[in-house]
Amino acid sequence: MSNVLENLQIYLKKMNQYNHVIELLMWDMETNTPKLGFEGHADALTYFSTEQFKMSTSEELSAMLDELEMPQEFETLDDMWKFIVTRMKRDLDKSKRIPADFYESYVMAKAESENAWKEAKNASDYSIFAPHLEKMIEMTRKMAEYTDPGKEIYDVLLDQYEEGMDSETMDKLFDDLKKELVPLVKRILSAKQPDSSKFKGNYDIEAQKKVQKLLLDYIGFDWDKGTVGETEHPFTMNFSSRDARITNHYYEKDALSAMFSAIHEGGHAIFEQQVNPDYDGTVAGSCCYMGIHESQSRFYENILGRNKNFWLPIYEKLGALLPQFQAISLEEFYQEINHVRNSFIRVDADEVTYCLHIIIRYEIEKAIFRDHVSVDELPDLWNAKMQEYLQITPKNDAQGILQDTHWSGGSFGYFPSYLLGSIYDGMFLDKIEEELGSIDDILKDGRIKEITKWLGEKIHQYGSTRTPKEVIKAVCGKEVSAEPLIRYFTEKYTEIYQL
Ligand code: ZN
Repeated sequence: MSNVLENLQIYLKKMNQYNHVIELLMWDMETNTPKLGFEGHADALTYFSTEQFKMSTSEELSAMLDELEMPQEFETLDDMWKFIVTRMKRDLDKSKRIPADFYESYVMAKAESENAWKEAKNASDYSIFAPHLEKMIEMTRKMAEYTDPGKEIYDVLLDQYEEGMDSETMDKLFDDLKKELVPLVKRILSAKQPDSSKFKGNYDIEAQKKVQKLLLDYIGFDWDKGTVGETEHPFTMNFSSRDARITNHYYEKDALSAMFSAIHEGGHAIFEQQVNPDYDGTVAGSCCYMGIHESQSRFYENILGRNKNFWLPIYEKLGALLPQFQAISLEEFYQEINHVRNSFIRVDADEVTYCLHIIIRYEIEKAIFRDHVSVDELPDLWNAKMQEYLQITPKNDAQGILQDTHWSGGSFGYFPSYLLGSIYDGMFLDKIEEELGSIDDILKDGRIKEITKWLGEKIHQYGSTRTPKEVIKAVCGKEVSAEPLIRYFTEKYTEIYQL
């Protein structure tokens, strides 16, 4: 092995040790730190983050990467190291183009904007947030001009979260979807709705945690490589493929919420647990593409978890842990977990209307960055689109444009990845059925772990080494298309709602 490569490996190991401490501190602050412990944690976190940032942008690192990119060195590298060197060099070059003083003012503006958003949401007063939103839009534009000069701004933003997915591809996918889903949702909403009243009750929290254990075991979560914590909003984080953690939130009045969050976050964690461990601690590991990641959590949550056959092998066990379900038939349960409602809040939406919530955000982001629509016009634009696609108009901005945190932190271009995830899922479902047989049969027989194994072999093991388009091409052998997802929705909901 060349000397430079060895030096790079030693350097990366040190960077990872800093990273490890940073992540451990963040995990502890989210799940476990007592009120008066935060200051000490935040102090240590600032120190380790600063050191880590210095290392990730240093001249020393830059020189090593430059050397490894020279043909005589590069040719001696194996594929994994070729990927790592190319990717790190590209990212380093991008961040080097951002002037330090601009970056500093961006970080400050972002913190102020996030605070203003919280205040605005609590008061349901858009005018508190509007000037900050305007500033974040302006700074985001500028940031994109620095990192990717000459490229179309919104494409740069999309690329940050789902590399290679340009808005031309997305326009086509989302338009196809919208054309079919808007009338489908209309038909569903005018059909007879399931009766939710049986689900009202008090669900013991400890019993809900046992259900969570049951579900995570069932889908193939590896407890030797993961654990579960409790937070206000569920999320997944991972140190490496050997340690992927999830959190959940339990509601006494609603058992379904924690069940489906466990399946969703469990899907994210299983992905990370199945990444090739040789990639740990490098940019080849932990999958950085949000759409692909979301495709896996949503595959477990929606395609598998909202299939009646998923529950067949475990429904009795569920009733033993939460006796309320003994009075609910599997058929009634199935209807309720697929209950379509036109509601205001994205995170509470069912799998069908969820797509429309995302399309609204995507169209507004395009209006901002392409058509230069002003910040003052956005709430009306939001409400008009809600009315057009979901036939409801928010009564206030808290349940409208102020509901999500993403834009306050400058995460423009993030929303579409949620929907791309579902679009990929339609394609993965087709491919699994082609290779493993009917998904209903697999689930009915309790062979769900065969699916987890398939996803591991086809998708998870590659971590970040394949871009989303490469994943789709390699797994499905064709270009990305919304047709399979549209077909899945149409067939499933035509049956459930007897359309
Ligand atoms: Zn997710």
